[in-house]
Amino acid sequence: MSPAAGSERVAAWSETELGVEGRVLDVVRAPAGVLSARGDDVDPTSADIVQLAADLVATMRVSPGCVGLAANQVGVGVRVFCVDVTEHPKTRTRHGTFVLCNAVVVASSRNERAREGCMSVPDLTGDVKRASRLTVRGRLPGTGEEVEFSTDAFEARALQHEIDHTDGLLFLDRVAGAHAIYPRQTYL
Ligand SMILES: [Zn+2]
Repeated sequence: MSPAAGSERVAAWSETELGVEGRVLDVVRAPAGVLSARGDDVDPTSADIVQLAADLVATMRVSPGCVGLAANQVGVGVRVFCVDVTEHPKTRTRHGTFVLCNAVVVASSRNERAREGCMSVPDLTGDVKRASRLTVRGRLPGTGEEVEFSTDAFEARALQHEIDHTDGLLFLDRVAGAHAIYPRQTYL
């Protein structure tokens, strides 16, 4: 699948493809060990992963301001996450709601610093440098199709934040130092 076709495929994806009802799960908070461990690669066609994908989307949807959620944030140490930045004002390119399995960064450029938060670190935000142009590759839950696509701006940031989760990294691992960490003042 070409990157352009991958982009169209991801944009067309929705959780209704999974054919199962998502359940809202509890989100674990730092310093839970599962947040600091690299997740295992998964078979995106397995029933367990299809259910997990639906659960991640359901949990993201009920969480105000949540633009992405990784499996280890609900206590499952595997490389799966969901993203939906549609409503965020800093979004340019957007692909709606999607879930990726075994995702990796293929290319990245144009670093920009911006404030980030995380449901697993609810009391803090931090300034993190991330690429504002990004190409990623991963597999869709359910069909298992491999997709590669490019994005920018806030969606690129959200993807890097989530791929970091699958590698056992939090945004706190990416800040330049204590001076770049702030108490959270508003809950989006
Ligand atoms: Zn997070």
